Amino acid sequence: MFGSHLSIAGGMHNALLEAHRLTFDTVQVFTKNQQQWSAKPLDPAAIKEFRHHADRLGFEKIVAHASYLINLAAADPAIWDKSVRGFLHEMERCNQLHIPYLVIHPGAHVGAGEAAGIEKIITALNHLLEAGKSGTVTVCLETTAGQGSCLGCKFEQLAEMIAGIKQTQKHRIAVCVDTCHILAAGYDITTTESTRKMLHELDRVIGLKLVKVWHFNDSKKPLGSHVDRHEHIGRGQIGLECFNVLCTDPRLKNIPKILETPKGKAPDQQDWDTLNLAVLRSFAR
Ligand code: FE
Ligand code: FE
Ligand code: ZN
Repeated sequence: MFGSHLSIAGGMHNALLEAHRLTFDTVQVFTKNQQQWSAKPLDPAAIKEFRHHADRLGFEKIVAHASYLINLAAADPAIWDKSVRGFLHEMERCNQLHIPYLVIHPGAHVGAGEAAGIEKIITALNHLLEAGKSGTVTVCLETTAGQGSCLGCKFEQLAEMIAGIKQTQKHRIAVCVDTCHILAAGYDITTTESTRKMLHELDRVIGLKLVKVWHFNDSKKPLGSHVDRHEHIGRGQIGLECFNVLCTDPRLKNIPKILETPKGKAPDQQDWDTLNLAVLRSFAR
């Protein structure tokens, strides 16, 4: 199941229409401007239109990506509070739109240290899952490249966060693995063999069943660079073998695999999304 991160300019439903035009099976969206804290409440007519097209097109596993401003690991109480409130709004928007998955970068400890940051994230998530318990959205913690003090660049860190979630809310938490980010974080996925090893490690530390979303991006920057720069599939430091393994593993079959590669037109005037999707589909069958 393949999707792409697409724009909601002109209305949330436009991302669905564009995904359909590009022949994707699903889509990832921001449910608001990701560079702003606040947003106008969703208009009931806009929700209706979004649901109408999602149902018509059969898009079940739609993914939302939370704002980059949110930092659930923040040591500064004002920023932490603002982040928790901001994320609760995002969860509510997903519930209104019936979007099942909300991806978030776990957060950056900004000098407070790894343990303190993870503690903050756990406190935030327990509060949020409790506050939003009437909803259905699953929060997916994304693997990061480990840029600066960003947490989530080791599978162990994500496992620790999940271990801290109250038993009653555990079913609402999951993981999103971003291929570009894990390569930058130091997980070798440059060959068939090393990708299989990574999957084994992921399954051992987190559990493959907990990975509800994949982000499929190649990487401009090399293994272990801790720099997050997305590249077209097969044209970066990861290469094609990794995506071949991931597209053909039956355990990943019905999991959304979302492209976050650069947009625009390839030299042959095709949409880059069309080209990248064609590469992935050439493996999948
Ligand atoms: Fe992300
Ligand atoms: Fe990503
Ligand atoms: Zn990235």
